[in-house]
Amino acid sequence: MEDISLTINGMRISCASGTSVLKAAEQNGIQIPRLCHHPELEPFGACRLCLVAEEKSGRIMASCVTPVAPGMEILTDAPRVIRHRKNILRLMMAEHPESCLVCNKGNRCELREIAGRMGLGETGLYPIPPGYRGIEQANPFIIRDLSKCVLCGKCIRADHERVAAGAIDYQHRGFASRPATLHDLPLEASNCTFCGTCVSICPTGALTAKIVGHAGTPEHEALSICGFCGVGCSILAGTADQRVVEISPSGRTGSVNGVTLCVRGHFAHDFLNSTERLTRPLVRKDARLTPVSWEEALDRVAQKLLGIKKQDGPQSIGFFGSSKCTNEENYLFQKMARVLLGTHNLDNGGFMAGRPALRLVEERTDGRCRVNRLADLEKAEVIVVLGANPGHSAPVVSYCLKRAARKGIPLIGIDPRKTELFPFCALWLTVTPCKDHELINCLAALLWKKFAHDLSFIERFTEGFTSYSEALSSFNPERLCLASGSDKVSLDRAADLLKGKKISFVVGHGITQQRHGLQSMEAILNLSMMTGSLGPGPAGIYVICRENNQVGAWDMGTVPDALPGRSSLHDNSKRRAWERAWGVKLSPDRGLDFVQMIEEAEKGNLRAMVIMGENPVRSLPRHERVEAALKRLNLLVVQDILRTETTRIADVVLPGAAFSEKGGSFTSMEGRIGCFSPVVPPPGDAKPDWEILDGLAVKMGYPKAYRSLDRIQAEMARLIPSYAGLQETSGKGWTWVRETGAQRPFRFSSIPPSGPEEMNDDYPLTAILGSQRVHLGSGTRTGCSRRIAELDLRGEVIVSQTDGARLHLRSGDLVRVQSPAGALSREIRIDRELRAGQVFVPTAFHHNDAMNLIGLTGWDSASWQGFKTCQVRLETLGVGK
Ligand code: SF4
Repeated sequence: MEDISLTINGMRISCASGTSVLKAAEQNGIQIPRLCHHPELEPFGACRLCLVAEEKSGRIMASCVTPVAPGMEILTDAPRVIRHRKNILRLMMAEHPESCLVCNKGNRCELREIAGRMGLGETGLYPIPPGYRGIEQANPFIIRDLSKCVLCGKCIRADHERVAAGAIDYQHRGFASRPATLHDLPLEASNCTFCGTCVSICPTGALTAKIVGHAGTPEHEALSICGFCGVGCSILAGTADQRVVEISPSGRTGSVNGVTLCVRGHFAHDFLNSTERLTRPLVRKDARLTPVSWEEALDRVAQKLLGIKKQDGPQSIGFFGSSKCTNEENYLFQKMARVLLGTHNLDNGGFMAGRPALRLVEERTDGRCRVNRLADLEKAEVIVVLGANPGHSAPVVSYCLKRAARKGIPLIGIDPRKTELFPFCALWLTVTPCKDHELINCLAALLWKKFAHDLSFIERFTEGFTSYSEALSSFNPERLCLASGSDKVSLDRAADLLKGKKISFVVGHGITQQRHGLQSMEAILNLSMMTGSLGPGPAGIYVICRENNQVGAWDMGTVPDALPGRSSLHDNSKRRAWERAWGVKLSPDRGLDFVQMIEEAEKGNLRAMVIMGENPVRSLPRHERVEAALKRLNLLVVQDILRTETTRIADVVLPGAAFSEKGGSFTSMEGRIGCFSPVVPPPGDAKPDWEILDGLAVKMGYPKAYRSLDRIQAEMARLIPSYAGLQETSGKGWTWVRETGAQRPFRFSSIPPSGPEEMNDDYPLTAILGSQRVHLGSGTRTGCSRRIAELDLRGEVIVSQTDGARLHLRSGDLVRVQSPAGALSREIRIDRELRAGQVFVPTAFHHNDAMNLIGLTGWDSASWQGFKTCQVRLETLGVGK
């Protein structure tokens, strides 16, 4: 693009054609005041504070919407510009002269800051502000005081351009003009998702977080990373009195979320200050958990673990690590298990996420497709969203998808239920639960028939296509289509949308956790290779991770079958490299996964377990069975931040620090390794988990303590090639996972035949389990949020209209949902969109009782039914009011 020369305040500058005067000034260190402008939003020119004068023409103009032109002579601080600016500012301030004194934004109000800089105190205008509007704060999250609104439109533009929710827009004209919901309903009655983006971007106190009443006004702000889902949003933690009292998006350039967050990230971090926080080590004495010193607690754990190892052998001890704790903590955790206790009995909370399907992607791509930047979705050619409801599981992913759709990128949704992405999709394919593989194979067969494969990619980068294409040729698309529960016309349209394009797949738990997750992922990988959608460029497979460090826990080797860096135990050269690095002999045989550990505890073979940052009694299927098995152990040690269902039955409880109270790194679903530092100290005697493990390792005979995060990170960067970049971050910012896999061809796999599903007439309905936006996982942390509790959500079971009529049910009725594994009782809600024969059961509510419907069987078991669906029947318990 051609460069343009001009002067600003007499300084000769040049910049690219199309640059705004405001941006050109800022690029050259000249600041111009503004309220309505934001670098992530389209320029708007509403507040007029960025006025500048052009000397030659004598024109005064808003610099944010004026592009540079050759030879311009711009003055940003000419007396007449300042005069105009002050008048505009006085008019804005005159609207709410009194309420400034009690405003939650306090000294963070941009309007007040600009007025202060311009020396404006008294406005000398109206004694009574025209059109005072009341404060609205019925909802638990956001206070709206529109008497402070300056009509900059940032909230509306952020809602439309970044979040694509469409919850608010301008209403009325002149003095009456204001941002409002459709029909001016309260926020809680609108389609607002309470992501809080409008709050963070509002330059005045018109929109503020309802947090001050809960915890106080922030005095300092520090960077951190959201502790909830695997998107890994960059946040600013506002602190007061050594506590985190407010969270807002950091807005850092290059961050995954920019100015956005979701309701959890913005408002559900209340758990950090919960009264349920653990603050002292506890040891069970006379059947009661009793506070003790760290010395006593660690001595007890070390002696008992070493005693059990000596008496019953290393295989009698199990370790359950955390998909929420840091990489450094998971690294030390698995090292302790392997080096000091000699066992691979290791797993982590990401166990539920569907390891076989995820492992398949790793194996089939040799770990070469680990980095998938969410920003690239907005440059994709076509996007297929499968088994995912990102608006609830990972909301920032849904913003990317909606923005992509608004840019004209075709979105194809594949799911048994229509989600909130439906209105953004070019095409929606409703699939029978667990039949996604049939549908994807059908799409592949249709594309093959249309000669829509990428022959050049196939020849250069893949192997095994001949047998795959022979299988496709033998397919009967009509049969596959019927088996998938979709219709042929829609599938033909989908094939037309995909033809000749590289595909970005966004894959959720509906695929990875389901019974046929492995076949579905095989089908996705085959289709990716066939269409040349793997490897560099804006395409690939984006797997949504529910937990913030699900990826990192696996990378660090907190799994039974892989060492750090996802090195297989069976790979002799890699295993020997770790043996040399750690100075121990490692068994090539895999250890027990979590379900197997529970089974061995039930048999009395597993004698001790160390659990870090997980609450399996609530998060795993069959709570009572898990609890009974853990109670049989000789020693149950739990490190955690909150009192949970699992800490209550522990023998030793070690209080850990939350993410905001420690340093370390998390690895996001994008493959971004984000580093962070402590923002506040841990409460009471609590310690970062890495410090607890470091102290415990020394007690168990490890020769030297690490004593610092730097040393742990240096060892990780040295020994794990994909984490070599960690050293360069110096504990701040982010780096990316390095894709260090072999450069072997991508391999097509055969397509196994699939037969009809066996149905049990006693359980004629298919229950689909899924999360809702406000809760994450089992709800252990989000359940501690007072504000989320105030929403008074009930987690109703959703029943289709057809089944509701057949069973004489109405919304509000109480039912018992019975599966072969267990039962729960809840209110129901009738939904017109749900297909007959299906019910939807929200997880995390009512102590996550939805998990009792699912059997606790391992991934490798023949009776494995998945963690996503099960067969149920409904029994009426009572009629709603
Ligand atoms: Fe946190 Fe995930 Fe929400 Fe981002 S999308 S704010 S990481 S919960």
